[in-house]
Amino acid sequence: MQFIETRGNDGQHPEKASFSEVILAPISSFGGIYSPESLPELGEAFLNEHIGSNYKTLAGAVLAAFEVDIETDIIDKALSLYDSFDDANNPVPVVKVFDDLYVSELWHGPTCAFKDMALQPFGRILSSIAQNRNEHYLILTATSGDTGPAALETFKNKNNVQLACMYPDGGTSDVQRLQMVTEDATNLKVIGVKGDFDDTQSALKHLLASKEFNATLKEKNIHLSAANSVNFGRIIFQTIYHIHSYLELVRQKAIQMGEKVYLNVPSGNFGNALGGYYAMKMGLPVEKILIASNKNNILTQLINTGAYDLTKLEVIATTSPAMDILKSSNIERVLFDLFGPQRTKELMFQLDQNKQYQLTETELKQIQSIFAADFCADDEGKKYIKDAFAKGYLMDPHTATCFKTYETCREKPLKTIVYSTAEWTKFSPVIANALTGEVDTHDLKALNSIAQEAGIEIPAIIKGLFEKDIVHSSIIEKDDIEKEILSFL
Ligand SMILES: *Cc1c(COP(=O)(O)O)cnc(C)c1O
Repeated sequence: MQFIETRGNDGQHPEKASFSEVILAPISSFGGIYSPESLPELGEAFLNEHIGSNYKTLAGAVLAAFEVDIETDIIDKALSLYDSFDDANNPVPVVKVFDDLYVSELWHGPTCAFKDMALQPFGRILSSIAQNRNEHYLILTATSGDTGPAALETFKNKNNVQLACMYPDGGTSDVQRLQMVTEDATNLKVIGVKGDFDDTQSALKHLLASKEFNATLKEKNIHLSAANSVNFGRIIFQTIYHIHSYLELVRQKAIQMGEKVYLNVPSGNFGNALGGYYAMKMGLPVEKILIASNKNNILTQLINTGAYDLTKLEVIATTSPAMDILKSSNIERVLFDLFGPQRTKELMFQLDQNKQYQLTETELKQIQSIFAADFCADDEGKKYIKDAFAKGYLMDPHTATCFKTYETCREKPLKTIVYSTAEWTKFSPVIANALTGEVDTHDLKALNSIAQEAGIEIPAIIKGLFEKDIVHSSIIEKDDIEKEILSFL
């Protein structure tokens, strides 16, 4: 499987790259990203073959179909990390919540959020390649709260890799912040930035593309890469659970093989939804992908009107902060896949220069044949949390946004797979507020009251965070990021 560039080739970057190459250097010509040149066919024959496969076997088969150029024993070791999830036999449980609505729980990994699904195996693969090549890597990551902990966890104490992780100060929950600032390993650097997530993501993109920064690293014999979802090494792992969840519905006799379903995805940077899009293109029987946003509803705007218009928008802080994003990176891969590199380059340049672009009527129709979208305000989300709890299901505010799209975007009474992206423990103040009306600013109190309300225990790993030492305490201006990272190296 080869990868080509979303904005075409500038004659300097390789025109085509292999999987291992795009993992190590994800940025391509004109600031674009690498995307698969073609996709494997994983339709009904593949699905039938894997109806009895466990998660790891299915994952191995998907990677094999992509013909990734990674040695089998590295892949096996990477996939064996799913054994450390809550239930080694079922790392991604799919739970019937009501009517046609099934929830696929993507948060049973070590940091209790869906980022572990991809970052656990991705981190292992990347550091193995680095060791095999005897090269050293600086991995940059920008996080709105969940990528950071998952990236730190996966790269902790790994040879040949250093990780610098930037998060917006005040933009994450207590638990998320503690998961980052208590991670103690000499190859990790955690930096709080005065700004929002888009600021940290822009800083990351700037550093990846910066000639001077790359030259400085070169002097130190360090290569640069990124652990954000622009890296295809993450996306590939996000196609697998869509296929797995579909097969789960067949196994649970909720659907017959071949029957179409809706995939319903709480979206920010669009990695999760892109994984669903690729799964659909590879042959998974999907009616449409429902894109749920919060009040930062740029994706709803794009899918419903064809306009991506940032001119009057600023990021709003919501109760689903992992989706407080206006520059949704992976949309570019959909544009590329549907409209080709020329048009993608044009649209992305318009976005850079004028902070907006407008799709044509024909383009919009194509988008709408695949996606439908709506957004869920914080108060509505709390109501969904409360209603689901009354029916026996405890969920986090990101997952809750999908209950809105479930109500407003389905045109057919088909079974719907909602992707649950975080454990309740990561966003407890909002959930406690939804369930009891209490207003807590601190996670610990909220965790206790939810646990009491639901008759469950706070997981030990979360409780333990509040007693750990803070290792990383720097909070800096966004202009100082480069300096801070260089001094860490
Ligand atoms: C990252 C994240 C999202 C958004 O996922 P994307 O792939 O960026 O669209 C949603 N919910 C939670 C809890 C997340 O951590």
